[in-house]
Amino acid sequence: MVAITLDEIVKAPKALLHDHLDGGLRPATIVELADAVGHRLPATDPEELGRWFVAAANSGSLERYLETFDHTVAVMQTEEALYRVAAECALDLAADGVVYAEVRYAPEQHLERGLSLEQVVEAVLAGFAAGSVEATREGRPIRVGTLLTAMRHAARSQEIAELAVRYRDNGVVGFDIAGAEAGFPPTRHLDAFEYLQRENFHFTIHAGEAFGLPSIWQAIQWCGADRLGHGVRIVDDITPGQLPALGRLAAYVRDKRIPLELCPSSNVQTGAAPSIAEHPIGLLRDLRFRVTVNTDNRLMSGTSMSREMALLVEAFGYGWAELQWFTINAMKSAFIPFDERLTIINEVIKPAYAKLLG
Ligand SMILES: [Zn+2]
Repeated sequence: MVAITLDEIVKAPKALLHDHLDGGLRPATIVELADAVGHRLPATDPEELGRWFVAAANSGSLERYLETFDHTVAVMQTEEALYRVAAECALDLAADGVVYAEVRYAPEQHLERGLSLEQVVEAVLAGFAAGSVEATREGRPIRVGTLLTAMRHAARSQEIAELAVRYRDNGVVGFDIAGAEAGFPPTRHLDAFEYLQRENFHFTIHAGEAFGLPSIWQAIQWCGADRLGHGVRIVDDITPGQLPALGRLAAYVRDKRIPLELCPSSNVQTGAAPSIAEHPIGLLRDLRFRVTVNTDNRLMSGTSMSREMALLVEAFGYGWAELQWFTINAMKSAFIPFDERLTIINEVIKPAYAKLLG
């Protein structure tokens, strides 16, 4: 079998569920926006700045990884900046062949220069809409849904959950909590999750990345998460061997088809996995968990959706059948309505992969 190339993957339709808006800026845009607001950057040459982000994120600790966001968030404090970053995000994803994306960010981190939460949400939604229209006009249609994130160390989750529900008919399709896991269990935000469940709204929780099974168990069994942001540590509940044995929690996650938003490069950078080749995605796919492939932070990982898939092709020898499976898994697990998911699967994804599979 001839190995699939990165160029071929770029042309194939892809679905992305876990991508951070403040982790995907173009370095050149950061330089321009920082200049406009007088924010000091570690480098002012776009290429050098891009390398700085990847190097800082490569340090191996989640805390240092999160530090890189001080710079991106600092330049995303006006409506114009948020609009531009969101529009460019939609364009960049479309150029990479992503046909459906859920992009997340925390509105509470964009209030430093006096914006209200509503102004932040509306500027980002307008940016996604404008970028999607432009991409479609250029022949690369994309749909972008927004997830609003609350920070797990802060105390605004209820407010952000209500904000997400208020904008549910305007492009906000879900809710998430993010930030350092250790010491901040998801059950701190139980009120917000119970509110979302009463509203029949969708949410995912960053869990099982730096921290293990208790975090995953709480996210699912206490908080009611629809999906797991990462969830990669579910392998701690699997005994390897000729016939791997699943513990109760791993079996539950697989039985219930709970989607795992796996982010290979990001996990290697934060130390959640030793390398792409040793990433648990190989085992989890073999065991047919509901595995999806994601970018997490394209800037910090110097990556793209196509590159993540190319790395998996290289490490595990995957072909188009596996790439289609990841893509359909992601589309099935999206937070938009079922009929709309089905349309993308049947009219966009399946016909394209049918040709690739020959
Ligand atoms: Zn993430």
